[in-house]
Amino acid sequence: MEEDLNIRKKAELMLGGGIILPKGFVFPYRLSVSTAGPGAGSASAVFSFGGHRVKKSVSYETGEFELVENGGTLSLRKDGVPFLEEVKIEPVVFHSPEQAFFNLDQRCIFKCAFCISPSLDKDLDKQLTDDDIIKMTKKAMREHKVVSVSLTSGVAGSVDETVDRFVSCVSGLRKEFPGLPIGVEPYVSEKEHVTALKDAGATEIKLNIQSPNRAIFEKVCPELDHDNIIAMLLYAVDVFGTGKVTSNMIFGMGETDEDIENITEFLCSNGIIPTFRALRTNPVNSGPMTAAVGIQPPADVDRAVKLAKMQKEKLLAHGLDTRDCRTMCLECACCDLVPFRDL
Ligand code: SF4
Ligand code: SF4
Repeated sequence: MEEDLNIRKKAELMLGGGIILPKGFVFPYRLSVSTAGPGAGSASAVFSFGGHRVKKSVSYETGEFELVENGGTLSLRKDGVPFLEEVKIEPVVFHSPEQAFFNLDQRCIFKCAFCISPSLDKDLDKQLTDDDIIKMTKKAMREHKVVSVSLTSGVAGSVDETVDRFVSCVSGLRKEFPGLPIGVEPYVSEKEHVTALKDAGATEIKLNIQSPNRAIFEKVCPELDHDNIIAMLLYAVDVFGTGKVTSNMIFGMGETDEDIENITEFLCSNGIIPTFRALRTNPVNSGPMTAAVGIQPPADVDRAVKLAKMQKEKLLAHGLDTRDCRTMCLECACCDLVPFRDL
């Protein structure tokens, strides 16, 4: 019962607005300013409670939730009433707790309606070289627990060039850290891209299907190829192995639960772990999203919990487990309800 309540609280936090901080509150750890993921562009921190983690944007000025400090204990309030009795602030390695997660390039030649990475302030682009990433990972490993390294990127220039960039960075990391899990989240269009990433030393790959509904996909990602993403996912399982390939879909863009269940069954039955991410709208993506799919009801707690339970059943039925993944969002678990980790 308590566990179910905590799952709902995580969903409420995850789907809700930011956290307002007490005046003068000093963070015990460096804040994360991400260039990818739901909190992209804003200062955020990771909070944990009851075995769950959530990454939330934080500010001294505004927020839907309020952080309260009381004699060394931190709690959260919402609408002036207690929401969580005790929360802890978790250290972030790079972007994620216990994980060095880098965005190789926030620029992108594609224009997916929900994606804000390419529109972020150019000053946030860290323009990291492979060498920088290796050095930063080494330093992080001296200072924190680091379970893996993960890499994401927009498609800057061309798909080939972007995959080459991943390959060069993964090769450098693999040479330096022979046993460390390395996850990659590229956009690939050819089987050779997948093979090259595996040969370079990547251990897990995430190729996002973006929407379970093809008609919606075509509206929100008009330049991407749904059939080819599926073909690449199936090939990636041959190369990386069952349970080492993941694929994210965004919900709240007009798809039905049945759409999500159908594609989840298809992906799981082929050894691919699907992940579900609630759409977050903001001043950058709300115009393009409305133009693409109209105004859609925001994802709510009931739907998020229902989908996560269905996801767990499908994973169980096909012998897949998110705890076998050591990289990217499944390992991090800050932005979604993750079966076997949260429920
Ligand atoms: S391909 Fe990826 S990075 Fe590029 S616009 Fe689409 S979601 Fe964003
Ligand atoms: S769950 Fe994924 S997007 Fe969210 S903070 Fe973790 S790594 Fe980033």
